[in-house]
Amino acid sequence: MARQPLVAANWKMNLLRSEAASFCDRLLSQPPTAAEVAIFPPAPLLDTVERHLTGSAVRWGGQDLHPEDAGAHTGDTSARHLVDLGCHWALCGHSERRQDHGEDDALVAAKAAAAVRHGLEPMLCLGETREERRAGRTMEVLRRQLLSALPHLGKRFALAYEPVWAIGTGETATPELAQEAHAFLRSLLAESLAEEAAQATRILYGGSAKPANAASLIAQPDLDGFLVGGASLDPQPFLAIIGACA
Ligand code: PEP
Repeated sequence: MARQPLVAANWKMNLLRSEAASFCDRLLSQPPTAAEVAIFPPAPLLDTVERHLTGSAVRWGGQDLHPEDAGAHTGDTSARHLVDLGCHWALCGHSERRQDHGEDDALVAAKAAAAVRHGLEPMLCLGETREERRAGRTMEVLRRQLLSALPHLGKRFALAYEPVWAIGTGETATPELAQEAHAFLRSLLAESLAEEAAQATRILYGGSAKPANAASLIAQPDLDGFLVGGASLDPQPFLAIIGACA
């Protein structure tokens, strides 16, 4: 089954409104055709991104959301806020949230459930730490992270395999290593859902993706695009990564 590549920008806690606006204008001045594109801006920039991207094929989403729909949760953002800001996507379980905010698998699953409840498409991030890889526990960790969230991901979702040791470090997984993890995740989807659903699900790679390594990674049969951090802050490398998916 042919899966349309998907390239997503994770801006993390970067850029200001004027920078977000010019990024969006630049993106739309050369509308990318090689892949579907998604932008995950910090929550205060969702409004700016919505105003600049509405009417285009580019979609956007929240980097995080609270599992509840409303209430006394100072500083949090709900799925309802994301929907109100025109979001299509909700990023769930990014390793920086798992590590910096102590998010465990149960909380990640509850966040995915909240996203699905409001019609958002979850993008579930999963990946092993360096210690887990060294200890030969990569597949065990991926299995645990995927199977705990899977019952809550709804019918439409994407996965992002992001080895923690490759995020923001400049160290990228080799294409072979990434393919091994992606193929394993797809086999788990086939076992747990159905072969057809496994073949239809996009599994992105994230971890120091850049123009220089995107082509060799996207050539792998089970790699369907990228979740890009550092190289998504400037439209030029981001567009080059999209172009590599052609
Ligand atoms: C990310 O944070 O999702 C990511 C992949 O970051 P980077 O591309 O900077 O490694």
